[in-house]
Parts: sequence; structure tokens; C-alpha cells
Amino acid sequence: MSAKPEELVVTKIRRGTVIDHIPVGQALNVLKILGIRGEEGYRIALVMNVDSKKHGRKDIVKVEGKELSPAEVNKIALIAPEATINVIENYHIIRKVKVRLPDLLQGIVKCINPNCITNKPREPVVPTFKVLLRSPLLLVCEYCGSRVSQEEIIKQYAG
Ligand SMILES: [Zn+2]
Repeated sequence: MSAKPEELVVTKIRRGTVIDHIPVGQALNVLKILGIRGEEGYRIALVMNVDSKKHGRKDIVKVEGKELSPAEVNKIALIAPEATINVIENYHIIRKVKVRLPDLLQGIVKCINPNCITNKPREPVVPTFKVLLRSPLLLVCEYCGSRVSQEEIIKQYAG
């Protein structure tokens, strides 16, 4: 790879999504949490550890040909609470959305406690977590009080 960093940054996509303002080192985890493993046929560009106009350094993920659902945007907030989602059409940004971590998360994270009611196959209980801390992220299960860290969440999606 001989491309200069600035060339990587300006590589444009025709149609798809650019996820900007990802904390440094989290670009791959953003792909993991979206369930993108590189076999789906999307053209993906990862830009890591570049200067951010706002603060310090950041990662950027570009996915050609994919638009994110609201549920996927919520998932990104677990990894990159400051991220901006840019929707691209014909090489232009047609929409910008700031991710927002809701106070209550339903159905996107599993409880770590095997005895939690949300892990019982016969109980139709949706795992629900309250956000205890935003940075670093810490969630607490509404049913059993178990605490789930960001690391644990990444592990759930990487498996
Ligand atoms: Zn629980």
C-alpha cells in the first residue's frame, strides 16, 4: 500500500454510508457490531487515526452500497457515541445524522448472567439495559442488575 494518508481520506464513494468521528481504534469494532465481515460484497474503506477538526484523532468507516437502518445506527452508538452518519448519493452527502445513545437499550445487547430471565429460552423477555455510564460505556440489566461493559458488548458481536 503506497497511497498517502490524505489520498485515503478523500477517496469518495458513489452511494452508501460514511461513519465519521469514530474513536481511534474502534473502526473494526464498528464493522463488527454492524455484522459486516467483508464477505457481503460491500466495498469498504477504513480510515484510521486521522486528524479530526473537532478534537484529536479519529477513525472513519465508508461502506459503499449500504444504507443503515435506525437499529444499526443505535448499535453504532454503543461503540462510537459521538459518531456522525453521512448518507451519500452521487458522491454527495444528502443527509447527516448524529448517533444518539438512548437511555434504555432494548434487544441489542445480551445479558451476561446465564440465569437472567432474558436468557431463558421459554421466557419471551426482551433484554433491556439502562445506560449507567456513557464513557466508558457501562450498561445495567433491568432484570437482574448485571453490569455489561463495552468490551463485553464487542465480544458479543465479534463471536
Ligand atoms: Zn440480566
